[in-house]
Amino acid sequence: MARRIAVLGSTGSIGTQTLDVARRHPDKIEVVALAVGRRVKEALEQAREFGVRYVASNMDAGEFDALGLEVPEGVELAFGSDAVAALTQLPEVDVVVNALVGAAGLQASYETLRAGKVLALANKESLVVGGDLIMPLASKVDEQRRAAGLAPDHGPAGALMPIDSEHGAIYQCLIGEEAREVERLWVTASGGPFRGKKSCELKDITAKQALAHPTWNMGPKITIDSSTLMNKGLEVIEAHHLFTMPYDRISVVVQPQSAIHSMVEFSDGSVKAHLGTTDMRIPIQYALSYPERWDAPVTPLDFTKLGSLQFDAPDVETFRCLALARAAGERGGTLPCVMNAANEIAVAAFLAGEGSYLGIAECVEIVMDAHDVQPVESIGQLLEIDSWARARARDNIR
Ligand code: MG
Repeated sequence: MARRIAVLGSTGSIGTQTLDVARRHPDKIEVVALAVGRRVKEALEQAREFGVRYVASNMDAGEFDALGLEVPEGVELAFGSDAVAALTQLPEVDVVVNALVGAAGLQASYETLRAGKVLALANKESLVVGGDLIMPLASKVDEQRRAAGLAPDHGPAGALMPIDSEHGAIYQCLIGEEAREVERLWVTASGGPFRGKKSCELKDITAKQALAHPTWNMGPKITIDSSTLMNKGLEVIEAHHLFTMPYDRISVVVQPQSAIHSMVEFSDGSVKAHLGTTDMRIPIQYALSYPERWDAPVTPLDFTKLGSLQFDAPDVETFRCLALARAAGERGGTLPCVMNAANEIAVAAFLAGEGSYLGIAECVEIVMDAHDVQPVESIGQLLEIDSWARARARDNIR
């Protein structure tokens, strides 16, 4: 039976690549719902191609009418953020691919798991901000899946599948292993376009320079985060939650070729690494195919042409966002929420030409320092703290 998926953020980088995987496996994946921010025209084209019934947009109905677009027959179009979240509750949906950008994805992740559905998660903020709420829900859905005979005989039950090359890699390296024998997670980083540079060389960097990422093809926000190493910091926090691993046993290593997608070290000194072509469709497909593997949508890695593999320690003095994110994760509670919100605002300001490149870390640090950390209690609390941090960040664009 085909897996029936909802794609939240269907016109973004992960969304379009998810649909590309669906296009190659029409017998295995049925796309039943799409959610977008404002790119409704594209979403309606996608709906037409995949025969999708439900489409939701953050736009309001008035704005849509002004566009003069025609809604294809059989498509139900709904508006507003509640309509986006409502797609996760549809009885026709088995798996929600959450590729929403930023903290907006948290609510959708929460509702998906609360409805007992599989969450294929590309929205990092769900775990960074709300890991303390999301992970207990994921364990519950894992239990339900085991009880209903939906889980594979061996390995994780698959309620929460990461769509991130690093976490997908670690997920696969851990299959068949005992948690108590895992010593360390090695999260690899490409190092971004400014690897090897020092602060004095980075102060005049423009958004255009920062958007030229050498290996992965990604959206603008995550591309800036990759260049500042904030992305790696967010991924360390994600790994902490996903694999219940203390921070002192999660290491980051720069692997500029991006051929090794991450590694797991075991108590006997053995290390398993996951390698593959740098194409997000592989981790996306694995998140949808688990526990199976389907035919690869891309050319496999040719080791005879790979040349050398390089490893370096990350430069956390120049790329301070990595250290700030790790500090936020270690302190825990609501601090990662504040760190993430401040970063979103600082990155948006940098992309708009209003803030400087090095000002991103400065802004994040100022807002983190101003926050009185609390234990995470609810989505409502996190949303409130998120908006406090955003306002504070706007006042501290450097
Ligand atoms: Mg990644």
